[in-house]
Amino acid sequence: MIKYVSNTGGGTAVDFETAILDGFAVDGGLYVPERLPEVDKTTLERWSKLTYTQLAFEFLSLFIDRSIISAKDLEELIREAYKDFECKDVVELHQLKSRKSTFVMELFHGPTLSFKDIGQAFLVNLVHFFLDRRGEYKTLLIATTGDTGPAAAHFAAGKSTLDTWVLYPKNLITREQERQMTTLPHDNIHAVGVHDCPDGGDDLDDLIGVLYADEAFKERLRLSSVNSINWGRVMMQAVHYFYGYFRVVDFVGEEINTSVPSGGFGNLCGGSLARIMGLPVQTYVVASNRNDSLNRIFSQGVCSKAELHPTLSSAIDILFPYNFWRYLYFVIPDSAKIKELRAEYDRTGSVKFDADLFERFSNGYLSMSASDEQTLGMIDEVYKSDGYLLDPHGAVAVVAADNHRERLGDRKLICVATAHPAKFPEVTKKALNGGSSLPAAGLHASLESAKNEPESGHEFSFSHLEAEVRDAMEHNWTLKRR
Ligand SMILES: *Cc1c(COP(=O)(O)O)cnc(C)c1O
Repeated sequence: MIKYVSNTGGGTAVDFETAILDGFAVDGGLYVPERLPEVDKTTLERWSKLTYTQLAFEFLSLFIDRSIISAKDLEELIREAYKDFECKDVVELHQLKSRKSTFVMELFHGPTLSFKDIGQAFLVNLVHFFLDRRGEYKTLLIATTGDTGPAAAHFAAGKSTLDTWVLYPKNLITREQERQMTTLPHDNIHAVGVHDCPDGGDDLDDLIGVLYADEAFKERLRLSSVNSINWGRVMMQAVHYFYGYFRVVDFVGEEINTSVPSGGFGNLCGGSLARIMGLPVQTYVVASNRNDSLNRIFSQGVCSKAELHPTLSSAIDILFPYNFWRYLYFVIPDSAKIKELRAEYDRTGSVKFDADLFERFSNGYLSMSASDEQTLGMIDEVYKSDGYLLDPHGAVAVVAADNHRERLGDRKLICVATAHPAKFPEVTKKALNGGSSLPAAGLHASLESAKNEPESGHEFSFSHLEAEVRDAMEHNWTLKRR
C-alpha cells in the first residue's frame, strides 16, 4: 500500500484517496508520499515513446494503488481529463530560432488556457470519481491569482458531487480570467470577487486557512480543496517535465535545463520530484517577478514575508511558496525539522535555513527575479525575432534563462510557458509598442465569445470578507441541501 504522510509529521499515514479528498493533512501540513519511487534508465527509455496520456498513466500508477483505482478507471479518468485540450498531445513544444537549442513548452492548451488546466482537469475529475463512488458530496473552496479558479470552475461545472466557491482578488486579475468564472451558467459554481486585497491572492489563501480551521463549519459544509496544496495536482504536474524532456533530447540520459515561471512552486515541485526520481535535468531556473520570495529562498537561503507588488505577470504574484515546503520533505525527510522551520516562519515572518540545508535544497537550481520592463522587452523581442508571442509568464522564464545563459551552457533548454497570451491582452499591447489592436496570436475565440455572455457572481469587500463568505456559503448550503 502506498502511504501518504504530512510533511510536518502530524497525524497518521493515509491512503491516496484520503490524501486527495482531505487536501491538507490534519496538522495543516502537506501530504507527501512516504517514499518516492525511482525511475531508472530502462523505464525512461520505455516512457520516451509514449503519448502524454500514456505517460501520465505510467507515472501516476507509481503513486496510486490499483486497489484504489483500477487500471481501467485510471485510464478512463486521464482520457476524460484531457479530451478537450486543443492540441494533439496535451502539451506542445516550440523551438525558438533566436536562441540556441531553446524550446518553449506550451502548457496552456487546456480549456481555460493556462497550465492550471493540466492539474485541475485530472484532480477535479478524480475528486468527483471518489465522491460519486462513496455517494458523497463536497464543497470546494478555492482562492486564485487568476488561473486556478477558472480551471477548477471549468472542470467542476455541472458535476453533481461538487459545489464550488472561487475567491479572486478583484482588479488584480484580467477581465478575461474573471469572465472564465463569471460566465459559467452552472448553479454549482460561485465566483466571488474580493475588493481591496492588500496582499492579493495570499489574503484569500489566509481566509481559506481560517475557514478550514473552523472544524464545525468545515464538517457541516464538507469543505475540501483543490488548491495547489493538493497532492493530486503536484503529482500530475511532474508528467510534463518527462514529456518535454523526451521531445527535446537526442538520447535518453542527455542532461537538459528547464526554466519555470514560479509563484507557489507547485509546478516546479512537480519538476523537482521528477528529477529526484531520475529525470536528467542539470539545472532548474526558478523564474519569479518582483515578488521574489522564491528568488530569496534559492539565492540567499531565506524565506521571509514581503509586501505584494502587483506585476504584469500576475499569476506569479505570490508571497508564500507553499509547495517549496513540500519539496523540502524530499530533500530532508525530517518532518520534525520542517515543522520547526515552518513554526519559526509563522512566528517571526522569516526563517534562515542553515548552510547545510541551503546547500542541499538549492543544489541544481538557479533563480532570478525579472522586472516588468524585462518581461515587456522579452515579449517584444521574441515576437520580432521569432514571430512568436509569449505570455508574460513565459517571458519571465526566458528572461531568467537568458540571465543565466553562461552558467547553463550549451545544454538544451526548455522554457515553460504557462498561459496563453490572450489571457493578458493589455500586457501584449503594451509590449508590442502600445498598439490598440492585437496580433492574431494574442486572441483566442473562447475569450472573445465570453465577452458577449452574461456574468454572475458575488462581490465582497476585503474588510468584511470572512462574514460575507460564511453567510453566502451557509445560505447556499441550506438552499440546496434542505
Ligand atoms: C499558477 C501559475 C504559475 C505559477 O505556478 P506555481 O505552481 O504557483 O509556481 C505560473 N504561470 C501561470 C500562468 C500560472 O497560472
